[in-house]
Amino acid sequence: MRIDIMTLFPDMCNSVLGESIIGRAREAGKVEINCIDIRSYTDDKHRRVDDKPYGGGMGMVMQAQPIYDCFNSLCEKLGKRPHLIYMTPQGKTLTQERVKQLSKLDNIAILCGHYEGVDERVIEELEPEEISVGDYVLTGGELPALILADSVSRMLPGVLSDDECFTEESHFNSLLEYPQYTHPAKWKDREVPEVLLSGHHANIDMWRRKQSLKRTKQRRPDLLEKAELSEKDKIYLLSEE
Ligand code: SAM
Repeated sequence: MRIDIMTLFPDMCNSVLGESIIGRAREAGKVEINCIDIRSYTDDKHRRVDDKPYGGGMGMVMQAQPIYDCFNSLCEKLGKRPHLIYMTPQGKTLTQERVKQLSKLDNIAILCGHYEGVDERVIEELEPEEISVGDYVLTGGELPALILADSVSRMLPGVLSDDECFTEESHFNSLLEYPQYTHPAKWKDREVPEVLLSGHHANIDMWRRKQSLKRTKQRRPDLLEKAELSEKDKIYLLSEE
């Protein structure tokens, strides 16, 4: 998969994407992520990319032309139109389900707004999918774009050591994950649940499933409506009431 992030702050994105699991995945060619500087596409002789909002008001608005030309140049380079996403607090909230679907695509382009946002006409012209990372406002689309790029990349084959790393995790199957423990077995008088030290895999799996159901019921009961539950799971949940 190839992800292109269109931004006014490519260094901000590159510094994060060069680290840890995603950094290694990029080096190993499991995912290609490019950060494109929208400013390189401005027609303005002073390299301006933003201006005051018509109608007055605070802040600056990103102009349509550099964004439009940046995206068109990318389409030409790729020889096709990638799926375009605009990160905006006005979009649909990102879910693990949407992340899974996006990870099946070959190409994604992500547009990061900044300041007061972008000129509405470029949104009308390019018709991107609009995605939000939550009901709060950030200074720019770079952190949301990094969230999207990270969450999609870790679904790709070979990025994590094993698929189980994400299939067991919170939200993958509309459940929250069970609690995790590591060495030492006793810390500040708190002991790791005995079953995890038993080496009995069937019992460990059963304990983890129950913990996962219990946590989801306590913390996010709304998720249970979408989860695939066995008869055993349902009986367990009823016994927890
Ligand atoms: N004036 C805009 C509004 O009220 O809807 C908010 C602009 S925000 C300060 C600047 C940019 O940050 C946006 O264009 C968007 O790209 C990004 N952004 C801010 N919050 C976001 C969120 N929750 N999800 C996704 N992108 C966000």
